Amino acid sequence: MTENKDQQEHQEVSLYEKLAARTADLLEEGKKSLDEALKKAKEEIAKAGEFSSEQMDRVSAYVKRDVADNAEKATEAVKKAVDPQRVAAGAQSMMARILNSAADALSDLAEKAEKQVEFKTGEVTSAGTLTCKECGAEMHMKTTGRIPPCSKCKKTQFRKSY
Ligand SMILES: [Zn+2]
Repeated sequence: MTENKDQQEHQEVSLYEKLAARTADLLEEGKKSLDEALKKAKEEIAKAGEFSSEQMDRVSAYVKRDVADNAEKATEAVKKAVDPQRVAAGAQSMMARILNSAADALSDLAEKAEKQVEFKTGEVTSAGTLTCKECGAEMHMKTTGRIPPCSKCKKTQFRKSY
């Protein structure tokens, strides 16, 4: 049983990485939305028959959550950068146009996924810092992996930063 569980965990981490990488490629290639790119990546990977459709659905939800979480944070950073006081007058209109169009795309992406981005023990997520909602302890994940319980209080809900 333990071996099967380990194997399944390993599989889901590798599926996460495959899905995220392929989704990124598809988004860069064209005008596809996140949903379209993720759906196409899923279809391509499903053809190989290596993963169950249950795994595909679960892991693609993790990827989508992480992309939305990143987009939300990126949007905040872009909004700050567009603050007129921080942009020289001459460069303002061009910079503002570029950053605003990026911000629109990003906020659209962020809104499409769940508003409340949650990270729980047992889920797979990309590298980053998870902060326990209960006790504030931080866990640093260097690579994509399964989220363990809080190392301090054993609770299971986290916020994430990068
Ligand atoms: Zn804790």
